[in-house]
Amino acid sequence: SEALLHVEQLSKYFPIRGGLLKRKTGDVKAVDQVSFTVNKGETFAIVGESGCGKSTTGRTLLRLMEPTGGKVLFEGKDVASLSRKELRVARRDMQMVFQDPFASLNPTMTVGQLLEEPMAINRMYDSIERKKKVAELMDTVGLNAGFVQRYPHEFSGGQRQRIGIARALSLKPKLIIADEPVSALDVSIQSQVLNLMEDLQEEFSLTYIFISHDLSVVKHIADRIGVMYLGRMAEIAPKKALYDKPAHPYTQALLSSVPIPNPRIKRERIVLTGDVPSPANPPAGCAFHPRCPKAFDRCKVERPELIHLEGGHYVACHLFDEEGSQQAAG
Ligand code: SF4
Ligand code: MG
Repeated sequence: SEALLHVEQLSKYFPIRGGLLKRKTGDVKAVDQVSFTVNKGETFAIVGESGCGKSTTGRTLLRLMEPTGGKVLFEGKDVASLSRKELRVARRDMQMVFQDPFASLNPTMTVGQLLEEPMAINRMYDSIERKKKVAELMDTVGLNAGFVQRYPHEFSGGQRQRIGIARALSLKPKLIIADEPVSALDVSIQSQVLNLMEDLQEEFSLTYIFISHDLSVVKHIADRIGVMYLGRMAEIAPKKALYDKPAHPYTQALLSSVPIPNPRIKRERIVLTGDVPSPANPPAGCAFHPRCPKAFDRCKVERPELIHLEGGHYVACHLFDEEGSQQAAG
């Protein structure tokens, strides 16, 4: 499969300032040397608890935030080296869908105006043609085209997310980064929106990065999954491998709280003790070590690198040696 997006050692640090003079006293390493590849036409999910850096990763990829370091290659081109003008063009190809699609949009605009706006800004089509495209977009996401005169607050949560998706689609993107797109919705509505996203992926050959805190949501839509912890990638694997053979103790703990449909498969419930430490002051070595039930001495001093196990399954954990076989450690 062909790579659409290649992310190498991406970092995003936020300075911490303290004292009377507001001098910089350190960094919050929200995203800390994260690497992954997203292939054309697939759904790559990024999963982790709140504060793990998954949303910052998404925003940094689009340069909605400037990265502190690392490389983002979109179709082989380094996004960081693009001029403002080139970036504007590139952003048509990479759209974002948010949990609340209208939080950042003008509430006094009708849905029709909101859908037309990105096309108008990018000088796509003439005004009459754009109105036609807006009606098509409404139809594409399963909404009555007659609703274009209405305002966002007149719609239900699920309908609003359909409109958010339509707005993202209006520029014919190649990649959509969806940040918790169904987290605010009821479970029954969640699956409708997820099904719509899958249909649209098929119809428009879209590639998705799907950001979620919820492994049971991602289970339906992801092809591959990256699990983040405290700004770092803990594990990356094809979906089946991740759910059947999670390698990282953190992934195992996350999965142990996801209900399994087959009652014959027994999974031990792993309860993590302690809170997620602050990324302003991450633990040395493996950032997960204070909460890890399998931690041993090396974990406290040495940061584990992401290593390849087999078949595209990567893990950052000292329980696995360089060749990817499990160590009898602990
Ligand atoms: Fe646990 Fe050590 Fe593996 Fe980190 S490196 S996940 S602390 S066993
Ligand atoms: Mg899919």
